[in-house]
Amino acid sequence: MYHYRRRFTREVSFGPIALGGYQPIRVESMTNTHTMDTAASVEQCRKLYEAGCEIIRLTVPAERDAENLREIRAQLRRDGIDTPLVADIHFSARAAMKAVEHVENIRINPGNYANRKKFSSEGYTDDEYRMELEKVRNEFLPLVRRAKELGVSMRIGTNHGSLSDRIVSRYGNSPEGMVEAALEFARICEESSYYDLLFSMKASNVRVMIQAYRLLVEKADGQLRHAYPLHLGVTEAGDGDEGRVKSAMGIGALLEDGLGDTIRVSLTEDPVNEVPVGFAIVKKYNDYHLVKGERGHLPVKHVVESRLGTTPEQAPPFDPFRYNRRRSKTVFVADIGTGGDNVPRIETDVSADLADTDGACREVLQRLAPEKSMDAIRSELVSLHLRSEEELVLLDALSARLGDVSRHVAVSTENIELFSVLTEKAFKVRLDIREGESLDPGFIAKLDPLSPAALEFCFIHEQTGERVPAAVLARLAEKLRERGFDRVFFSIRSCSTVYVYRHLVRELNAKGIDYPLVVRFRSTAAERLDTIIEASIQTGTLFCDGIGDILALETALPVSGEIDLCANILQGARTRMSKTEFISCPGCGRTYFELEKATAAIKQRLSHLKGLKIGIMGCIVNGPGEMADADFGYVGSGKGRISLYVGKDCVEDNIPETGAVERLIGLIKERDRWVDPE
Ligand code: SF4
Repeated sequence: MYHYRRRFTREVSFGPIALGGYQPIRVESMTNTHTMDTAASVEQCRKLYEAGCEIIRLTVPAERDAENLREIRAQLRRDGIDTPLVADIHFSARAAMKAVEHVENIRINPGNYANRKKFSSEGYTDDEYRMELEKVRNEFLPLVRRAKELGVSMRIGTNHGSLSDRIVSRYGNSPEGMVEAALEFARICEESSYYDLLFSMKASNVRVMIQAYRLLVEKADGQLRHAYPLHLGVTEAGDGDEGRVKSAMGIGALLEDGLGDTIRVSLTEDPVNEVPVGFAIVKKYNDYHLVKGERGHLPVKHVVESRLGTTPEQAPPFDPFRYNRRRSKTVFVADIGTGGDNVPRIETDVSADLADTDGACREVLQRLAPEKSMDAIRSELVSLHLRSEEELVLLDALSARLGDVSRHVAVSTENIELFSVLTEKAFKVRLDIREGESLDPGFIAKLDPLSPAALEFCFIHEQTGERVPAAVLARLAEKLRERGFDRVFFSIRSCSTVYVYRHLVRELNAKGIDYPLVVRFRSTAAERLDTIIEASIQTGTLFCDGIGDILALETALPVSGEIDLCANILQGARTRMSKTEFISCPGCGRTYFELEKATAAIKQRLSHLKGLKIGIMGCIVNGPGEMADADFGYVGSGKGRISLYVGKDCVEDNIPETGAVERLIGLIKERDRWVDPE
């Protein structure tokens, strides 16, 4: 939890490659063609191969699709494409038995494998539970035996939202239920001495997904014979930047924990687009070298025990399995409430030179616009950096030009003398503390706890260990508290943002200090995609764990792109909903309508419905379950046919695709959830 060490897992074979153990983290994608369409499937596999995809999954809805894998595989191998193939199975044990003959890995969903019948979720007696599990076992065992004979590995792929009635009745639709569903199947495998397993615990809610994987490791490492590899993914992440941000946050948070051996980024786009995003996410972690003989990091289980007091050194400063926002005090910057129960705020840096008053003024207004609407996605604080006292005149000129808007302007400096002056002039002032710089102990005595400015102390972390910034800032926090300072923030600028903030929270918690935190991240990436991924991982991970009161990014993105990225990160962590939440699946061979086009059309009409969750799912088989907590659902139910859902209830069954978006809008209006776009 405090520095990177990869969990050491059993190496599992995928035909010509392997994953887990000392292998690099592998990147997988999935075709969205119909598996019976050999030409289209082969062509898409070829494109994925050319994009560098290391594992390709194909959907197998029925036995004939399973049979056709033979032909697809033969054509690919004939063309020299030896990428391992995975058969994706839902429901059909018969399809699985056929598919296992033609692939390197088979994915089963414990929520629906051998589990066609709908059972009431209103309680199972112990006997009923045991009998149903026995029935599942009998249907599953032949697959296990055949996979073992053939040397085919298996992914036990649990999805939040498609758990069996049996599991839901006992554990609820929860991370605990997801874990138990997977463990039931894993125990059956181990009873047959079949150990070529890996797990996944996907959810469209990033926080649920992170918690479920952690919980699995915590439970499985105590119960199962091996530490099996993990396949990471956020399901129904959507498209565009939102899909990339959510995937990077969920997958990256776990990679930062040292968990994960293969990943898939699910986008409602051409699957080829998933591959570069996947490689951009794993690059940093694959560049670390696991030293032979070193067994990765301590299992999360040990961390939990230490949280209870066994080894406090390892204790994470938050609950890794349940979301709780860190308690912080409310601090007002002018009239903007931060910390406490306020949603996390957004702060961005003005890049224009202060000497260019017109340019700086334009940029401040651009970042705050439209200032009048608190609901609009915008930066609520903008930050300007001052180097010398001569620049105070320029700041005054800018403030005069901005008038009332200047209450949103925060200033920063590295100069202690200038900092003291600024506390009387600005609403928020930040002191950047360089590593190795010693602060004059008398410096705090000179500050006035009642000055108009809220104070921020930011440690610029470059070379030292990840503990150092926390130790320095916690000492400072104690002194400020002793002197009665109420309006204080802390932050760290580091390339190990996740770990240094965890250290900081631990130190502050230990001292009972509840000043709010600004989560700062400066991206050095040149490419847009790398910027989005780095920022999402380094800051999104913290917000998913309840850490952070203001998000402050510095990137090379254009102004609107940077603010959108902040909003996407906070929305992905579900800490601040500033627009409609779309939960859309990537589509696969079960999709019989134009999913990408429909998604674009729905987004165009409904993106202004702040906080509403809309599921857009490719098929009626898995869609309704997997759109999880969506308020409304648009689900493919056949060739050019759509079913519309309100919550979990299907209210319009199998209507023509033409006009379905209008009908969806009608349903939203009928339920009083519609507002007109501005
Ligand atoms: S929900 Fe989407 S990705 Fe999942 S099986 Fe259905 S069409 Fe395929």
